[in-house]
Amino acid sequence: MQINENFLNLEQSYLFSTIAKKVTEFSSSNPDAKIIRLGIGDVTLPLTPSVVAAINEAVQEMGEEATFRGYGPEQGYDFLKNTIQDYYKTKGVSLDLNEIFISDGAKSDLGNILDIFGPGTSLIPNPVYPAYLDTNVMAGRKVNFLDGNEDNNFLPMPEDGSGGDLIYLCSPNNPTGATYTREQLKVWVDYAIQNNSIILFDSAYECFVRDANLPTSIYEIEGASSCAIEFCSFSKTAGFTGTRCGYTVIPHTLQVNDTALNKLWLRRQTTKFNGVPYIVQKGAAAIFSEQGQKEIRTNIDYYLENAKIIRDGFAELGFWLVGGDNSPYIWLKCKTDSWTFFDKLLSEAHVVGTPGVGFGTNGEGYFRMSAFGNRENVIEAISRIKKIF
Ligand code: PLP
Repeated sequence: MQINENFLNLEQSYLFSTIAKKVTEFSSSNPDAKIIRLGIGDVTLPLTPSVVAAINEAVQEMGEEATFRGYGPEQGYDFLKNTIQDYYKTKGVSLDLNEIFISDGAKSDLGNILDIFGPGTSLIPNPVYPAYLDTNVMAGRKVNFLDGNEDNNFLPMPEDGSGGDLIYLCSPNNPTGATYTREQLKVWVDYAIQNNSIILFDSAYECFVRDANLPTSIYEIEGASSCAIEFCSFSKTAGFTGTRCGYTVIPHTLQVNDTALNKLWLRRQTTKFNGVPYIVQKGAAAIFSEQGQKEIRTNIDYYLENAKIIRDGFAELGFWLVGGDNSPYIWLKCKTDSWTFFDKLLSEAHVVGTPGVGFGTNGEGYFRMSAFGNRENVIEAISRIKKIF
């Protein structure tokens, strides 16, 4: 019996366990301190009324013989795919229904997609959403890093790395909050086509983009449908982190050595996945109704206003930063190492953020603040932080 020894090559992640331990220790010795947590990447506003109503209705349907549904299509119900197709039309992107695969969230598909690729090299940004790196280590793929830094505003370009057949791009980015422009994505698309690479584009935070000049889908860029897969999620769009639903787009025109990746993924999904619950897909479809769109916009505006308060607060204190304008994350330069900054914020302002070094070596000396939280707490956190710097 042999295990997959690639798993032994995974680095232990102590980031969130160390944060939890430090916070617990601090609060047990300072029981009166009101700790404000702006470290998490989880939403805090509940599902919106339209989504809840659609889910309730679907639950009723499932409880009656005439409307009960068992296994659904592995790639998702057309009623949801239709709404996504229409949504892409508003971005000027035309998708065939069979190019859309409903998922239980972006994380699963970002990991599972490696099933359809053989051994090779992946080009991964540093700092990075940790799942890209770990799934590549599990799959035994070689990894080259793309150097995100202050000089490129944490938006690395092809010259900042040394190539790979799979290229991971995330925009707006977690952890940095930085967002690629159309021109920058065009450079990436041209580069991928020239080098026979495939871009795995993570647009989990696309709904936070408010600047109409910034792209919210890689397919807004000419040529992308022959070199890119897009992963999206309702987690941050509509508070689905616990409800679990997203989608992946694989254009029919995307081929490797004359093999259509769409067909391989369909085969993979129909073999290993049995689809997202009907009830959940009904809830997700409600996000795209007129009322549903209004509701999620209100929620995202709330987070974006939080982000602005955090961003402006640190900017006033003279910190270098990116993000926070078309993203729920603010990435700032600490002036110390990441953990010293964490300790100072916790012990002196009773505020919790996330040390940048937890997202890769290039994150050392940086810090991620998250806008998911309650407005009063955000205002209070910034006012306390202003007193300690
Ligand atoms: N991609 C990025 C960049 C994320 O930050 C996250 C979650 O935090 C995900 C994907 C996962 O999304 P989901 O909840 O849809 O699995």
